[in-house]
Amino acid sequence: MELLPSGQKKVQGKELGITNDNHQVGDNDMFSFSKIDVLDLQPFEICSIRPPTENYSLTFRITRNCYWNKCAFCPVYKCGAKFSRRNIDEVLEDVKRSKQIDDFLFEQGIGYPLYSDADFYKLQNILQKVQQQRWEAGIVDVNENVSADADVKRIDDERMQWFMQWFVEKPTLAQCFEHVVQWRIGGGKTCFLGDADGLIVAAKDYEKILSHIKQNFPTLQRFTIYGRTKTAHKKDFKDLVKLHNAGLHRVHFGLESGSDEVLKLMNKGEDSRDHIEGCLKTKEAGLSVSVYSMPGLGGKKLSHAHALETARVINATGPDFVRLRTLSVFPYTPLMDMVKAGKFEPCSDDEIVDEIETLITAIDVPVMLYSDSATNLLPLNGKLPQDKSTLLSAISEYKSKDYIERLQYRLRARLESFVGQYGRLTDDIELLLKPLVKGNSIVIDNTEYVEEVITTVYNKLMP
Ligand code: SF4
Repeated sequence: MELLPSGQKKVQGKELGITNDNHQVGDNDMFSFSKIDVLDLQPFEICSIRPPTENYSLTFRITRNCYWNKCAFCPVYKCGAKFSRRNIDEVLEDVKRSKQIDDFLFEQGIGYPLYSDADFYKLQNILQKVQQQRWEAGIVDVNENVSADADVKRIDDERMQWFMQWFVEKPTLAQCFEHVVQWRIGGGKTCFLGDADGLIVAAKDYEKILSHIKQNFPTLQRFTIYGRTKTAHKKDFKDLVKLHNAGLHRVHFGLESGSDEVLKLMNKGEDSRDHIEGCLKTKEAGLSVSVYSMPGLGGKKLSHAHALETARVINATGPDFVRLRTLSVFPYTPLMDMVKAGKFEPCSDDEIVDEIETLITAIDVPVMLYSDSATNLLPLNGKLPQDKSTLLSAISEYKSKDYIERLQYRLRARLESFVGQYGRLTDDIELLLKPLVKGNSIVIDNTEYVEEVITTVYNKLMP
C-alpha cells in the first residue's frame, strides 16, 4: 500500500495477499468514490426470512413471500405480505445491483486487508458519506424500510412489532450495504434464494439466475432454497435434476410434522406422503435435503403421535439434516385463535422434552440433528445414530432434576436465548427479574412468578 499525493490509499492486491478473486485489485484501485458513482447505487431485494444457517448468506428474492400462507402456526406472512412471482430480469438486475454495491464497498476499504468485524465500523463512515452525497444530489434514501405489513402500526403486540420491523419488503441502500458486508464477513461462500417455496420457479430460470450469480460472485460455493414438499412431490423429476445441475445444493423443507392429523389441524396443505415422496425425489435428484421438525405442534393431545409419526417420515426419507424448531404460538395467527377458543392446548416445556425424547429414540436412519432455534430448550446437536445415547443422556439429565432445578435451568436457558437475540437484557426484563435477584444470584422462592417470567421471555423470542 502506498499513499497517493491526495492522501488516498492505493491498494495492490498481491502485496496485501488478498485472495478474493471476486475483485480485480490492481494498480489503479484506490479508496475513492470515483470508479463507481454513488448516485448509481440502488438497493436490491433481500430475504428477511431464511434458515439460521443462511444468516450470513448473500440473498436474492426469486419470488416474494408465500402463496400458501395458511399454516395455522406461521406468523411470517400473516400481516399483509402478498405473494408475487418475480420476473427473471428483475432478479438479474438485483444481482447487478448487489455486485455494484460489493465492488463499491471494496473500493472504499471494506475487506481491507481482510474481511472482519471491523468492517461494520468502517461501514458507518462510508454510509454517512454516501448518504451525504446522495442527499446533495437530491436522492434521499428514507423510508424504504417498509414493513411487509402496511398496517404494522396497528399491531399493538410488541413481539409482532419487533418481528415486522426487521421483515423488510424494500430494503434501504444502507440495509443492502450491511447485508453484503455481513455476507463477506461470514466467508462470502453461501447464497440463499427466497422466499417460501423456491421450487415453483422453472428450471430454465434457475439455470440463468445461478449462472449469472456465479459469474458475478465466483466465491460462492453453496446455493440453497426453501421448498414445499408438495411442490417437490408434484415436480417433474427431470426438472429437479436440472436444478441440481444448475448448481443448487440444498432444499430446506418445513415438514413440521409427519402426522397427517397434526398437518391437517395446522392446515399445512401437505400430508406425510408429500413429505416422503417430495424429500425422496429431491434427494434422488442429487440435492441435499434439510427438514424442520416442530416439537409441540401436536399440542398436548397429539404430542406422542406427532413425535412418532415425524420419526416415521424421517426414517422413510433419510434427510441429511433434521432441525428442531419448537413451536411458539404467535399473536395474529389462526393457532392463537385456536388456543383462545380452547381448541389447542400447548405443551409445557417438560412435555416437549418428553416429545423430543420419543422422536430421537425412534429415529433409526443416519442424520445430523440440530437444535438451532432460540425457542428450543435443550441444545441437542449431534449425529445419529452415533450420538443418540449422548443426546438421550442430556435429556435424562434434565428430567432427573427436581422442579426447582428445572425451573432454574429453563429460566437461564430462556434468558441466554434472549441475550443471544437482543444483545442484552432489556429494561422490561430487568424489571421482571428484580424481585428474584438477591445479592448476585437469582433466588427461586415464588415458582408461580418464575413461570410467568419464563413465559414472558419465551414469548419475546423469535424462532
Ligand atoms: S408454507 Fe411456510 S411460509 Fe407459507 S404459511 Fe406455511 S410455514 Fe409459513
